[in-house]
Amino acid sequence: MHQAGLMMDRPLLISAVIEHAAAQYGDVEVVSRETHGPLFRYTYRDCARRSRQLANALADLGLKPGDIVGSIAWNNHRHLEAYYGVSGSGMVIHTCNPRLHAQQLIYIINHAGQKAMLFDATFAPLIKGIAAHCPTVKTWICLSDAAHLPAIDGVADVRAYEDLIGPCSAQFNWPEFDENTGAALCYTSGTTGNPKGVLYSHRAIVLQAMAGCMPNVLSVSCRDTILPVVPMFHINAWCIPYGAPIAGAKLVLPGPRLDGESLYTLMEDEKVTLSAGVPSIWQGLIAYVEQKGLRFSTMRRTGVGGSAMPQALIAKFADTYQVEVRHGWGMTETTAVATMGTLTPRDLALPKEQQHAIVARQGKSLCGVEIKVVDAGGATLPRNGTSQGELMVRGPWILREYFKGERSPLQDGWFPTGDIATIDATGTMQIRDRTKDVIKSGGEWISSIDLESAVVAHPAVAMAAVIGVKHPQWDERPLMFIVCKPDQAVEKYELLAFLAERVAKWWLPDDIRFVDSLPVGGTGKVQKEELRRKYGGVFG
Ligand code: AMP
Repeated sequence: MHQAGLMMDRPLLISAVIEHAAAQYGDVEVVSRETHGPLFRYTYRDCARRSRQLANALADLGLKPGDIVGSIAWNNHRHLEAYYGVSGSGMVIHTCNPRLHAQQLIYIINHAGQKAMLFDATFAPLIKGIAAHCPTVKTWICLSDAAHLPAIDGVADVRAYEDLIGPCSAQFNWPEFDENTGAALCYTSGTTGNPKGVLYSHRAIVLQAMAGCMPNVLSVSCRDTILPVVPMFHINAWCIPYGAPIAGAKLVLPGPRLDGESLYTLMEDEKVTLSAGVPSIWQGLIAYVEQKGLRFSTMRRTGVGGSAMPQALIAKFADTYQVEVRHGWGMTETTAVATMGTLTPRDLALPKEQQHAIVARQGKSLCGVEIKVVDAGGATLPRNGTSQGELMVRGPWILREYFKGERSPLQDGWFPTGDIATIDATGTMQIRDRTKDVIKSGGEWISSIDLESAVVAHPAVAMAAVIGVKHPQWDERPLMFIVCKPDQAVEKYELLAFLAERVAKWWLPDDIRFVDSLPVGGTGKVQKEELRRKYGGVFG
């Protein structure tokens, strides 16, 4: 018989996070790019006050705990207040991805049964297109003051956020409830079939946010200024909007301006030490910095994930700009980051190139998360760095079942990720491919990710994608698509020679096509499904 622990049973709630920041780091700044351009700055104390005002405003609108309140917004201070005001009231914030197709947006809003929608003025045309098809949404709130309120034909009652919260009291008694209550909802990007809802609990978010601040993960402290480029409309911006107030770090929210010049200027002006984004954002930033011959004066670290960070870019950040890349892996179903790498003392003793190769892997599971790779029969594969199988994950911030989903996707209590990975003896995981993207050639597997990462190291290549194309003899063979950098050109044979020095001969693509652009989906990932539909025919 176990002894019952004798500690207080206090729930982990999101409201406590912003109140903690207000009480302990009340003067620490939050800087936010307004949708209409200028920078806005205030403190965590102000943010807590306005989150309480929003909670009162939502209650005045007749919204109740359990109700779903949507957002379509950039990373900005009003969106931050919504993270706290909505979830803190016991409601659920449904962060909608504006890059989804209108039909998908309509589907997820209706599926969620959403009652209200907070949106940035940028997305007024989007709202105009979908509003008539979202009958459950009774209130449309533009995240602006009255002066910047756009007129939206066909949507009668659009309220300005500032008008709504302005008259409300800054006193609000955050309700206490079970920490397993739903706090935020995000739908998967759904490349096939309908998007699926992932309902994060307060407990999952608070635990992940605390783990994400750990020194081996993003390493966030009150000495940092953090700029999350990862969007607040997808996977909770990696829980940085919760982690920064937990750590008391200054928070810089870039609004709609995510180009290299805007990000660089904001980083320098606000003395940003730490950032987080997907590889394509960093490609844009580095291109700008290189072109202008600039340096980072305060930026020291950046978290990267969402798709594989090419080793060449890791090397550039580390060797040329002294910015350490922390490469991680996660998915909508894992609340935020589930694995992340940082170099150990043993790694740091290795030559630079080997260090970068380690960073190019997706790191170790965070404490609390467990990972394993399994074969087709579900048997656990050895941690030897070469045995590939489906990555399985479990932990307190990993999805158990989808929102209004019929059947739990779990297998023996583990979530099957659909990613193909290896884990080495040090516990470092490497994503090799998606189960649906891996190329099966002559009974062996070719990693499309490895081929893409290898070829983007070529100076003329901006973007690459590799798909498997049916082949009469080998089953599948790789077909590579290349987007060149502006004013750059390269021949097919040159790329094949470049690749031949980096990958096994039988991995070399059977053909290379040069294209102007690649189809990119709502979360910035190349839509290989579309490429396959168009080019998946037969080789040979
Ligand atoms: P999403 O749920 O849309 O955020 O997509 C999650 C998927 O992105 C994962 O299942 C992986 O396939 C991919 N992904 C995320 N991080 C990485 C990474 N660091 N390297 C390679 N693939 C990644």
